[in-house]
Amino acid sequence: MKTFATMLAGLMLFALNAQAQSQFMFDPNQFSRPSSVPEAPPPQERPPAIPRPPVKPKPERPPPESRPPAPPRLPPVNTPADAITEADTRKQPCTSCSPMEKNLRDLQAVVKGQLRIGDLSSWKRSRGLVQLPTRGERGNIGPCGSFHYNPDRDKKSGEVVDNYTNPLTACAFMSLLQDWKKRCPDSQKGCRVAWGDISHKTAQRFNGHSSHKDGTCIDLRPMRNGSFDNAPLNYPNSDRATTAAFIKMAKAKGASPVLYNDPKAGGQYWDGHSNHMHICFKANKKTKDVCANYKYDASVCGPN
Ligand SMILES: [Zn+2]
Repeated sequence: MKTFATMLAGLMLFALNAQAQSQFMFDPNQFSRPSSVPEAPPPQERPPAIPRPPVKPKPERPPPESRPPAPPRLPPVNTPADAITEADTRKQPCTSCSPMEKNLRDLQAVVKGQLRIGDLSSWKRSRGLVQLPTRGERGNIGPCGSFHYNPDRDKKSGEVVDNYTNPLTACAFMSLLQDWKKRCPDSQKGCRVAWGDISHKTAQRFNGHSSHKDGTCIDLRPMRNGSFDNAPLNYPNSDRATTAAFIKMAKAKGASPVLYNDPKAGGQYWDGHSNHMHICFKANKKTKDVCANYKYDASVCGPN
């Protein structure tokens, strides 16, 4: 009996022991990852990819709606100067225009050294030069009804850029325009003053010019018999008597040199100057006197 009891107790102990041990047995569902996992073998290196020929990127075309709009239609470049009447010039949109009497007083103050050019608000300025005001979509109309032929314009903004002028030169030139207009009015064919390149807003040298750097020299068409088309002129087509009168007046206002291949009209021969005059107003006693004594006359040249 004792043996049976001993065996029963032994069996019960064994069963309890086995249950306790089973709690410490490895249960694969109990641990998601054992704390010490042997490192995976390094991945085998892939063989190098076979190089492909480069693909040329397709040039991107902007969608139609993002392209810049076509520029507005403008009058033809060779607008005859005489076809534009005084009344027409007043109707033209004016860029950088303001009352000219005040503008002139400011200019004279700069020439006299009473004002610095940087302090002017009445003139557009660049490189120590002032911009002659122009009218018209192309900037074809200059001060006092003058005609600005073949204006150079900025490709992006359309702004006229070839009319930057030394302040003293601007003063003397405008005095010449005013006095010439009194003597030979625009309404009379062959009288309108047509000017082209002076100096560029930003470029020291432009259009191959070597002497249009400092805003003191202006290219002008000679006066032409009967009319003044903005077409290339040759010396035989010019009106010598009227051109000579214009050159005489320019020289009286201190113009020097006057390059133009008609000595009988008062020009100095210079290669390439058969179809235009090259007139400079540099600082000298005459130009300074002319500028100091110039009084803007709005009844002749308009208010701006
Ligand atoms: Zn020139």
